[in-house]
Formats: sequence, C-alpha cells, structure tokens
Amino acid sequence: MEPELKVTRAEVIQRGILCNCPNCGERGLLQSWFRLNKACACCKMDLERSSGFYSGTTSIGYVASIIFIIIPICFLVGYKVLSVGAGIALGIVGTFGFMVLIYPVMLCWMVMVYHVALPQDLPRNREGLPPRDEA
Ligand SMILES: [Zn+2]
Repeated sequence: MEPELKVTRAEVIQRGILCNCPNCGERGLLQSWFRLNKACACCKMDLERSSGFYSGTTSIGYVASIIFIIIPICFLVGYKVLSVGAGIALGIVGTFGFMVLIYPVMLCWMVMVYHVALPQDLPRNREGLPPRDEA
C-alpha cells in the first residue's frame, strides 16, 4: 500500500502539462528554452538527479517530428501536392522548427512523466518520511 501522497499523480499531471514544477506548482523548471534548471527556482527540488532520464527528451523529439512532420510531407509528396525538392526543404525546416518549438514542453513533460511514475520521489511527498537510502 502506498502512503498517502501530498501531491497526487493528478496534480503532477495538471502542473506538468502547464510546464509548472510538479512539486510546488510554480514556473521554476526552465533555465532557458533548451535547459532545465539544476533545481526548481522556487522550491529547490533537485532536477539534476534524474537528468539521465531527461536526456531521452531529444529522442522523443525525433520520433515526434517524424510522426508529425516527415510522414505528412511524404503524403503530400506522394499525392503530388509538393514536389520532392519542396518536400525535402520543408522536412528539414519543419523538423528543425518543430524541435525548437516543442523542446521546452518536452523537457517539462519528461519531468512530469518521471514524477507521475514516481510521485513518492517528490520532496513534498517525502516530508515527514525517513530519508531514503541513496543508491
Ligand atoms: Zn518547484
């Protein structure tokens, strides 16, 4: 049985979708468009500990851009709406633009997914519990 959580999975998802910190709900996650803070600017929750997990972000971005950019362009080229040259140019520009556009969202959502999987890992949910063993 799980101990009662101060921050529930539903709250983590609500906060995460809006790119807010899952722990405190403030906008403290992003240092810049492409970087997470080392720790939340508001509640100091450590964001680096799971950075290995978050580095999966870029591969998600590639998959997402293939699905949302490359495949539709292939169809457009296939149906002769676009020429092959225009399709390739649009693919390169589109993929790059798409990655840039969704990058901060991916970073925030990786934080969210991690804490939906492990809500008991949030500092606020660990309050009052004995310290966890560091692996
Ligand atoms: Zn926070």
